[in-house]
Amino acid sequence: MFQFDNSYARLPDHFYASVYPEPVEGPVLLKFNEALAEELGIGADLSDPARLAAILAGNVVPQGATPLAMAYAGHQFGSFVPQLGDGRAILLGEVVDRSGTRRDIQLKGAGPTPFSRRGDGRAALGPVLREYILSEAMHALGIRATRALAAVATGEQVYRETPQPGAVFVRVAASHVRIGTFQYFAARQDVEGLRILADYVIDRHYPELKERERPYLDLLRAVAFAQADLVARWLGVGFIHGVMNTDNMTLSGETIDFGPCAFLDEYDQMKVFSSIDQGGRYAYRNQPGIAQWNIARLAECLLPLIDDDQDKAVLSANHVLSEFGERFQTQWLAVFRRKLGFLEEEEGDGDLVQGLLSAMQEGEADFTRTFRQLCHVAGGESDELFLSLFKDPSGASGWLSRWRTRLEQEKALPQERASAMRAVNPAIIPRNHKVEEALAAANYGDLSFFERLLQALEKPYEDHVEFADYAVPPKPEERVLQTFCGT
Ligand code: AMP
Ligand code: MG
Repeated sequence: MFQFDNSYARLPDHFYASVYPEPVEGPVLLKFNEALAEELGIGADLSDPARLAAILAGNVVPQGATPLAMAYAGHQFGSFVPQLGDGRAILLGEVVDRSGTRRDIQLKGAGPTPFSRRGDGRAALGPVLREYILSEAMHALGIRATRALAAVATGEQVYRETPQPGAVFVRVAASHVRIGTFQYFAARQDVEGLRILADYVIDRHYPELKERERPYLDLLRAVAFAQADLVARWLGVGFIHGVMNTDNMTLSGETIDFGPCAFLDEYDQMKVFSSIDQGGRYAYRNQPGIAQWNIARLAECLLPLIDDDQDKAVLSANHVLSEFGERFQTQWLAVFRRKLGFLEEEEGDGDLVQGLLSAMQEGEADFTRTFRQLCHVAGGESDELFLSLFKDPSGASGWLSRWRTRLEQEKALPQERASAMRAVNPAIIPRNHKVEEALAAANYGDLSFFERLLQALEKPYEDHVEFADYAVPPKPEERVLQTFCGT
């Protein structure tokens, strides 16, 4: 079924542990992403769902697979753990997709590995469907993310706080190399391993750096910029990752690990949803700072490769870290400029963005709805509905007149501007209460809410009467206050 070509398996033995998935009792295919399968050039036989389920659950290991669990380390909430690794994920292998890009095919929840520690190597249905929804939603929003190829029920129970139905998630990624993968070798002072890994990442993700004079310093910069761009995009849609540990940050620049992540309803820059983030380390506003902190950890790993003279290496790496800050600022402003409908760059744009965000914070305005309604205002609709989104509309009202003055400096037809704004301000995001609703129903065997939500999220920038219920904020009693890893 897969035309495997497994480059990671060709790396030295100590990069991973070879391990086969543990078969499950009764695999049933819950969801298969046909469009993604097509993109990957996978010849999946949909007329035989039982066989497909057996393959995707790990019961049948397809020809050409070299199943393995990757070794990695990581800082979790700031504390270093020298060995984490794939405790419940098995990389089946890699395929080269139709556009020529190498992609990992990984089974998450496929049984124990040498890295499982005390875990069971399994995943529960709820978190699996959650990752399915959130990763596909990010992709549809135009934000780089790992993808969902399938969700398979295992016919077994997993025991968390309560018994829950088990499932396997089939994840597709540009690669699963994380900052924590570098930390694994750095912690063992394995400079040769670091060099092999860095060369691997350059080959796979940044081949243009191969011939550079200082490829490893340039690699650090490329990853820093990819992450700066990514986090700017997250902030633009009100996304809170929730667990930005160094083992959950890819070298490719894809969003990975959708455990307790959530989208803002009402704007609050210090918002935290994750039950395990007690100190608010990974709050909405802290994300760029944390990304930079994580890049600093990557920099530490790369120092021995950057320069033989370690003082010089530190100077160069520090310079890249400061470049991260500038890059993020530029990207963030570009994202929000587009959200406000500005076609050109003007001096005071940053203040205007901050002005709206302050009014939203003060007025507890719904993040997604506010920006979407602003598109309609730009198109000529009255201010009324926009202002009604703020508890006290006076700040927003003053802001609207400053925004209009700014718009007058540019020549653009209101309808053109509104349409450009609609293309960057989604109507539909995976709102927490709708995600919870879909998962709760799925736990009772009803996948219809999950299916409908997925369908609504496919075209997030369009208004669909049929999906209007997904565009409205939760009622007070529907609000989700906390999210859980559920691993
Ligand atoms: P995560 O919180 O998903 O990023 O995972 C952090 C670490 O815990 C990784 O090393 C995972 O492989 C491991 N892990 C999470 N859940 C399980 C599980 N059910 N069984 C074994 N290992 C797990
Ligand atoms: Mg993880």
